[in-house]
Amino acid sequence: MTPGGEVVVALDVGGTGMKCALVRPDGATVHAERHATDAARGPEAVVGTILDVAEGLAGKARADGLTPVACGIAVPGVVDEARGVAVWSANVGFRDVPLRDLARERLGLPTALGHDVRVGGLAEARLGAGRDAGHVLFVAIGTGIAAAHVVDGSAAVGAHGAAGEIGHILVRPDGPPCGCGRPGCLEAVASASAIGRRYAELSGAPATAAEVADRAAAGEPLAGRVWREAVDALADGLATGQALFDVATIVIGGGLAQAGPRLFDPLRTALRERLTFHREPRLVAAALGDEAGCLGAALLALDTLAKESR
Ligand SMILES: [Zn+2]
Repeated sequence: MTPGGEVVVALDVGGTGMKCALVRPDGATVHAERHATDAARGPEAVVGTILDVAEGLAGKARADGLTPVACGIAVPGVVDEARGVAVWSANVGFRDVPLRDLARERLGLPTALGHDVRVGGLAEARLGAGRDAGHVLFVAIGTGIAAAHVVDGSAAVGAHGAAGEIGHILVRPDGPPCGCGRPGCLEAVASASAIGRRYAELSGAPATAAEVADRAAAGEPLAGRVWREAVDALADGLATGQALFDVATIVIGGGLAQAGPRLFDPLRTALRERLTFHREPRLVAAALGDEAGCLGAALLALDTLAKESR
């Protein structure tokens, strides 16, 4: 480790846990730690923990002879990156929390606040599976479905901080209800949670999406049907994404990507069937795993730093 080397304090705050790291400007992680979010304590306590952990990481960097130059924080929900405000988050309980300024005051470091999936996409596009692609759509499929559209290393935020909500593309008008209040959204049909729910509904026995994938591969007709429905809906959603964004590479992350070829082989075929004049994107699995959010938060902080010093 180079003495005096620069690092970014990076935090990826989720509903259950926080992934935290010291990241070098080249994307290498020099130190990582995890903490519980414990969202049930309420948003003020969660903010307190975020600030304490960030301050602790900056102190750890200095103790190790490193220089913390910036702080990047990723949170779920609706994030106003320009104002640095966590506008709304169902699973952490944030409502208009000015997290960027709070962290900047506490740490005395330039700070950036980003959306967890958007910065995850940033990291996959610049350091991971979408590297060198230029135009990348990163789609995270877990309990929900969200995406990031990254062009030349920069993720679109949207006018209201809500770009990339591909999980709420309407794919089945007569489909199951979505958490957003409307029936038939992509994530109500094809998220990992939705797949488990659908299988349980038809079979009467609970199962995870991974188990449904395994049973489908083993030839169980019901699991095969549920998996097929999900893959078809995903292909519909991705075809819409490709019509809008014309990307070179679609990177699939989140828990569902763990299904590997059981997901990617039929999904690639189903997407191909839906494309007419649009060029077929490369469809690949995410490469950075659950580190993507932390790395992306660091990249966002470095981008902000570069802009401020210009
Ligand atoms: Zn929805």
